[in-house]
Amino acid sequence: MSKSLQAIRGMNDILPEQTPLWRHFEGTVARLLDNYGYKQIRMPIVEFTELFKRSIGEVTDIVEKEMYTFDDRNGDSLTLRPEGTAACVRAVLEHGITGGGQVQKLWYVGPMFRHERPQKGRYRQFHQIGLEVFNLEGPDIDAELIVLTWRLWGELGIRDAVKLELNSLGTSESRGRYREALVAFLSEHLDKLDEDSQRRLKTNPLRVLDTKNADTQAILADAPKMADYLDDESRLHFEGLKARLDAVGIPYVINPKLVRGLDYYSKTVFEWVTDKLGAQGTVCAGGRYDGLVEQMGGKPTPGVGFAMGIERLVLMLETLEQIPEEISRQVDVYLCAFGEAAELAGLALAERVRDQLPNLRLQVNAGAGSFKSQFKKADKSGALYALILGDDEMARQVVGFKPLRGQGEQQSIAWDALAAHLATCIVQG
Ligand code: ATP
Ligand code: MG
Repeated sequence: MSKSLQAIRGMNDILPEQTPLWRHFEGTVARLLDNYGYKQIRMPIVEFTELFKRSIGEVTDIVEKEMYTFDDRNGDSLTLRPEGTAACVRAVLEHGITGGGQVQKLWYVGPMFRHERPQKGRYRQFHQIGLEVFNLEGPDIDAELIVLTWRLWGELGIRDAVKLELNSLGTSESRGRYREALVAFLSEHLDKLDEDSQRRLKTNPLRVLDTKNADTQAILADAPKMADYLDDESRLHFEGLKARLDAVGIPYVINPKLVRGLDYYSKTVFEWVTDKLGAQGTVCAGGRYDGLVEQMGGKPTPGVGFAMGIERLVLMLETLEQIPEEISRQVDVYLCAFGEAAELAGLALAERVRDQLPNLRLQVNAGAGSFKSQFKKADKSGALYALILGDDEMARQVVGFKPLRGQGEQQSIAWDALAAHLATCIVQG
């Protein structure tokens, strides 16, 4: 195929054989979030570039080198969203739905775009489900976010394969004091830091903690610890969160180097990580961002949220073979009709059955075909039963009812009795 007719590198088609598992995942999340009282919000995929610069921060990986930015026809600089929080904050502010302290518990799902090096679990168009909660400042809501993901991992059958890492970055005051101490310490070892870390020391020093460079990591072993700089407010908040996780019995490890890639976090930060996916081990990440709304021009509004990567979680379901049996079978019944009169009668019969059994997955053969070829298609569809309409059945106003998976003999069922019969065979098991 010529190059221009291929998908863009790092941007994937999700093929029909993969979508059942995606829908299983997304459906499980959506049901769970309904049950916890979260409401869905849908934002545009494109926003003004300025929005991301202001919210994510100019000196982050995302804004420095990962954004898909282009000029609109009138010269406006636009960007394909690299994450959801910025647009969500923009939306709640624009519509005034967090004004006067109104609590909002929101979620969204959709594609995000980052110009990264594509590899397993890392793509240029990827999908996230994100949650954002506004106007609740206590650790109870931070705990709820973590508790509901814990339940999700349980429902998906991957709980044993993920681990919760937790840290507190404190209020902006304690974070400021810590930053000073860290800069002072690192400045003494400047010549031994890797190049990236030397640069970050000037622009975004907390991110040095995040380095993958072994030499820098060794120096960091003696660096000041954030935990020693937390003020009382931050410490109480963190204790409150841990007490709640303990109450539910959710295990966690404190990772003092967990700082997250974005500028806007304060107090709680957390990541769910796995060792089942190789290098791309973070499946869900988030934290508190009490200063963000104000930074984006709103009134001071506490916020907390997280996002999970759907590709990585679907990969985990595949790797751990947590694929529910019912999603692999997509057809219950396959109707075969021979000759034009039978086709017309079959179509009308199928519609009557669908009226009575709206959840039945009934597929009507299309494209005619011989007895043999229609049967082959019925079998290949995965259906449990074939319905057969030929001359003989037409004359007697019945359908042939044939088990395809070896449960008994073929029988004849009167047209009027078909829906009731199917209900006993399929809908009720
Ligand atoms: P990483 O450290 O893996 O780059 P991140 O800190 O940049 O992740 P976030 O911005 O916190 O990621 O996004 C939340 C989640 O979205 C991640 O934990 C991950 O599961 C998923 N994610 C992020 N970037 C990608 C990507 N390029 N491809 C696939 N999934 C991604
Ligand atoms: Mg990243």
